[in-house]
Formats: sequence, structure tokens, C-alpha cells
Amino acid sequence: MLSFGDVASEPSSTLLVMGDHYLIRTFGCQMNEHDSERIAGLLSADGMTPTDDTGLARVIVFNTCAIRENADNRLYGNLRHLKPVKERNPGIRIVVAGCLAQKDRGRIQERAPWVDVVIGTHALPHLLDLLRQSETDGPQMDVREQTEVFPSALPAARDDPFRAWVSIAPGCDNGCTFCIVPLVRGPQRSRPIGDIVAEVQGLVDRGVVEVTLLGQNVNTYGRDVTVPGSSRRPLFARLLHEVNAVDGIRRIRFTSPHPHDFTPDVIDAMAACEAVCEHIHFPLQSGSDRVLASMRRSYRRQRYLEWLDEIRAAIPQIGVSTDIIVGFPGETEEDFLQTLDVVECARFDSAYTFQYSPRPGTRASTMEGQIPREIVQERFERLVALQERISLSRSRAQVGRELEVLIEGPGKKGAAAQGRTRTNRIVHLAGALSPGSFVTANITSAAPHHLSGEVVRARDAVAV
Ligand code: SAM
Ligand code: SF4
Repeated sequence: MLSFGDVASEPSSTLLVMGDHYLIRTFGCQMNEHDSERIAGLLSADGMTPTDDTGLARVIVFNTCAIRENADNRLYGNLRHLKPVKERNPGIRIVVAGCLAQKDRGRIQERAPWVDVVIGTHALPHLLDLLRQSETDGPQMDVREQTEVFPSALPAARDDPFRAWVSIAPGCDNGCTFCIVPLVRGPQRSRPIGDIVAEVQGLVDRGVVEVTLLGQNVNTYGRDVTVPGSSRRPLFARLLHEVNAVDGIRRIRFTSPHPHDFTPDVIDAMAACEAVCEHIHFPLQSGSDRVLASMRRSYRRQRYLEWLDEIRAAIPQIGVSTDIIVGFPGETEEDFLQTLDVVECARFDSAYTFQYSPRPGTRASTMEGQIPREIVQERFERLVALQERISLSRSRAQVGRELEVLIEGPGKKGAAAQGRTRTNRIVHLAGALSPGSFVTANITSAAPHHLSGEVVRARDAVAV
């Protein structure tokens, strides 16, 4: 077990002790959520306990996101709020981790000198050492450029006993011109297939029924490693088969993929593997060929729509979500209409819609033709309105169907329970149902972002 007590040569009265509390605030994507589970795992393994109460916390961690500019503003706003807290109680430790830590580095402690530890995306295994050092030597920073130990090797404190994230390939080798991810997460590094399968088996043995495989470009998993008997090419299809063969796994999801890398072997594997859910995230970004070229996305609208047709032909009923950016530099009204047109044709079940945000160090941030905020806002609202209409009509098509639902917990909006279909639709249900159990629900009504239903069969209840 990692312990501050063991490593501190001269114990001090301020050193973190067993029973101290920690609080973690996470921003951004699932990869960050999962890194936070590793941070929690490290702190818990050291004898600390989680809390939601800032007043009680001895260690406060902000695990940050850099994907859009408002993330910066939120971090520095949060840090300003903590300044008087730190003045009143110098013993608390403030940690900034994640993508903004990697991006802003020394600037964080210049702007907020009361931050004790800045820890980048590759340095997580060193968190406890840095905290300990900050107790005796003052503010610490580790923003090394390479990961020596996969965070997956660290202990994890997972909140959900039935669903788990499994990191398979952090980093990205693509150079989409709007995206800061390759700058803060580095190149893709695939974990050995055996380690991933062993992690999934261990999770299933502890009651997990659903895993989500995580990577920044998840379906190029394996491209960066050489496997005996194979060349350097993606091994994602093989990984799906191997995870599917884990005894007891019920659902496999993955995110975030690139449309270009849904190669026929991946689609075949998705169709053949019983546990792989009928859902894909298929990020469009723009429907204009001119903008896609400027974004350095490798496909064009026609090819994108053909791929979607091929996937839907192979896996009928598949749920499709997407990401779309509005207001990329140089986007004209005509380009934007092309995006609306692809959205009409593609009939996504849901879409994450983003207003373009210039990120320092990316090619797009210095491009000419940055679009005024009011125009971006007006286009954004038109896109959201269109997608809401399509989402509602896609949801309504589910009414009257019987669907398998994995119960996730108490429901929102008055529903007693909430779960998710294999196609990634949220379902509200009446009646107290145990998280982690599977039921069959008859869908009775639909809204753009959720369905409502009645349980017709409760089966395979998992012991809670
Ligand atoms: N790897 C995924 C892919 O290739 O589509 C995307 C991962 S990124 C973390 C999630 C989404 O954030 C992107 O798909 C994009 O739509 C959005 N995004 C990234 N950079 C952005 C920027 N500078 N401004 C607005 N949205 C951005
Ligand atoms: Fe960013 Fe995804 Fe492009 Fe990689 S593939 S640069 S993570 S948008």
C-alpha cells in the first residue's frame, strides 16, 4: 500500500494522515472521469476517505479539461474561490490535474500561488509523492511528456459497481486542426491486449456487467504496437472479440471512435459479438467538405453517409450519436447549411453540439475567418432545434417496442428508476429496481433525450 507515513523521512504534524478526507471535482470527458477514479484509488489506498464537503476536505483535486476555452475560465474561477479557504487553513492541499495542468503548466501557480500541486496527464502515479513533497518543500509541479506507467496499473476507486471504464489507448496521433487533445495527451499508446482482457475479467469477477473501452481514437487501438505475427495495424476488432469472450460480460461499449476507423473488420466484430452494444458514436464535426478539409478530417460528407448506411445495414436498430462543431474558422452560411443537410440525412439519435473554441497551439486558432460570436450562437441554435426534432422522432419510433434495460439507479423527473438500453437510450421506469439488474421494458412514451416504459419482465437480477 502506498503511504505518506512510509515515505516521509521526517514526519511533520501537517503530513496527510489516515482518515483525512479528499474531494475531487472532474471536468470533461470519460477519460478524465476515469483518471479521477485512479486519483481516488491512490488517495483511498493511502487511507483517505472521499467527501463532497469542501469544508471537510484536506486534499482538493481539480481534474481539468482543456477542450474548450470556458474550461480555463472555470478552473481559475474555482481557484479564486479557494484562496480565502487556503488562507484560513494553510494545511489543505490544492491539486490541479489533467489536461489544463498539462497545457498551462507553471502558469497555474503563477496565477494561483496557493495551488500546492500541478500534475499533468502523464504523471498520475507520482501524485502521492508530489503531495508529500509539497508539505515540506512548497508548491510542486510534474508535467512530464511521457507516460511510464499506464494509469490502469494504479488502484481505482470506482463509484459504480456494475459499469466500468477501461482505458485501452490514451493519446491521439491525428491532427484535427481544432483539437488540443494530441498536445495535452500525447501520441496514442495502446495497452497490451492481455492486460485489458485481464482487467475486464477482474471487473466481471467483482460484479461489473458493462464495460466501456476508452481511447481518444479508440478504434485505432493497436496501431502503435507490433504484435508477433501481425503488422502495425489496428487490433480493435480482435480486442472486441477477446473482451466479448470474457465469461460473464453482458455489455461492451467504446468511445471515442473516428468514423474513418470503422473498418469492415470492426463492423463485422460489432455485429458478431453478442455483448457489443448496438450503439456507435460517429463524430461528424461538419457536413461541409470544405470545412472538413480545413479541419483535417479524412472523410467527406458523401463517404461519411455511405459508412453510416453500411453500419446500419450490418447492425439494424443501431443507435447513432455524433459530435458537431459550429462556427469553425471560415465556415460560411452555405457550409453551415451543408451541416444541417447531413444532419437531416443521417438522422442521429443524439448529438453533442459545440461552438468552436480556439485552443492555443492548434492550427485552427490562427486561421483567418474566425466567426463572430453572435453568428455562431445563431447557427448553433438552429442546429440544436433541428437535432431536437430528429431526436424526438427517433425516440418516438421506439414506442411500443420491448427493450432490454440495464438499471443504473434512481430516476429523474419523478421516475423511480432509470436505466439504459443497449442502443444507449435512457429509460425512465416506475417501481424500485435494483441498480445492476436487467429488465425488459415496454416503451410507452418518448421525449428527445429519454424514453419512459413499464417493466414487463424482470430477469437476471444481479445481487446488490
Ligand atoms: N476523438 C474524437 C473524434 O475524433 O471525433 C473527439 C474527442 S474530443 C475530446 C470531443 C469533441 O469535442 C470533438 O469531437 C469535437 O466535436 C469537440 N471539440 C474538440 N475541440 C474543440 C474545439 N476547439 N472547439 C469546439 N469543440 C471542440
Ligand atoms: Fe482530437 Fe479526436 Fe481529432 Fe484526435 S481524432 S485530434 S482526439 S478530434
